[in-house]
Amino acid sequence: MSSATAPTSSSTTSPPTWPPPSGRSPPPRAGRAGHTRSRPVTTTVITNIGSLVTNTPGLGEGPLGLLRDAAVVIDGDRIAWAGPAGRAPAADASYDAGGRAAVPGFVDSHSHLVFAGDRTEEFNARMSGRPYTAGGIRTTVAATRAASDEELDANVARFVTEALRQGTTTIETKSGYGLTPHDEARALRIAAAHTSETTYLGAHIVAPEYAGDPAAYVDLVTGPMLDACAPYARWVDVFCEEGAFDGDQARTILTAGAKRGLVPRVHANQLSYGPGVRLAVELGAASADHCTHLTPEDVDALAQSGSTVATLLPGAEFSTRARYPDARRLIDAGATVALSTDCNPGSSFTTAMPFCIAIAVRDMGMTPDEALQAATLGGAKALRRTDVGRVAPGACADIALLDAPSHVHLAYRPGVPLVSAVWRRGVRELG
Ligand SMILES: [Zn+2]
Repeated sequence: MSSATAPTSSSTTSPPTWPPPSGRSPPPRAGRAGHTRSRPVTTTVITNIGSLVTNTPGLGEGPLGLLRDAAVVIDGDRIAWAGPAGRAPAADASYDAGGRAAVPGFVDSHSHLVFAGDRTEEFNARMSGRPYTAGGIRTTVAATRAASDEELDANVARFVTEALRQGTTTIETKSGYGLTPHDEARALRIAAAHTSETTYLGAHIVAPEYAGDPAAYVDLVTGPMLDACAPYARWVDVFCEEGAFDGDQARTILTAGAKRGLVPRVHANQLSYGPGVRLAVELGAASADHCTHLTPEDVDALAQSGSTVATLLPGAEFSTRARYPDARRLIDAGATVALSTDCNPGSSFTTAMPFCIAIAVRDMGMTPDEALQAATLGGAKALRRTDVGRVAPGACADIALLDAPSHVHLAYRPGVPLVSAVWRRGVRELG
């Protein structure tokens, strides 16, 4: 970045105003005359940020590291500087945030985006109180197996873009609708073209072909399927639940994955009490996901774990009219909590992290600050990343600008599309 330290323009010294006079942010403009003509723009200052969540306590107030009248300097794909606007170093270009609030890009640490088809009728029947006997996940497995690579790739691209428009700049996604070595590896290969956070979920359900012999399916998942998938995956996951995989099977699968260098994460305690959470903590999994039905021992295990994040997925409870997980109980006990969408065609067909934040505040006992942090820094911790989920020098330049004076509006104005600009790895993708 430039070594100059003078403010880029007089606008950086004016206090931010809300609402901005024009209602729209002006396009970025070049820096001082003569400064940028001879070389390409590599640094950009986003200035006139009314309220900036950094998730870096040393940079601002409280646990959110909140700064008022702030600026951020982006250099390439990284954040070079964040602080009071009046002290912002010079940059090649500047972007006037118009007094809007800025937050770190959301980190969605749990989604299932590689699939074909949808399950509108199943959702409609469930919400209409009508019985529905078609195949659930098996319906998606059949459609996914029948889809071309191009169709699956286009679907992932569409959902990643949809999430980006709502402020998500890092997204994890899983296999789990192929359930053969070929189809699972294909799903992960396609996912890996869109994100580095790919999770092998051959143990989503027992494949239909193995319905009578789940032990043989576990052998497949820990053998040839793992061999085919490991090159494309960072994580290994199991749906540990009655009707899917029990604790012993889950342990076998996660241990086999870990031996191949994949780090465990677990679908745990979603539909009922069970061994998933304690297994996740015992194995040092990065996260126990869902955590809806927790005993006091489960809560203690998560609270005392230094490495397993409790990832809550309220879109699933919303879409199935189930009871929400008790985030307040987990936070008060000392557990680290993340919020994520669980985007999938059966039980949570949303890519909207702001929606999850609104539910978490309204129905799960989280404060707006806690929910915002769980959707950013919490997700980063669930993915064991220190370069995302915060705004600080050296972090990825992932920032969402809100058409609002404060991040609290994400919960205060539910359902309103507040994300008005997004930078992902330093590139302004929206706004
Ligand atoms: Zn899931």
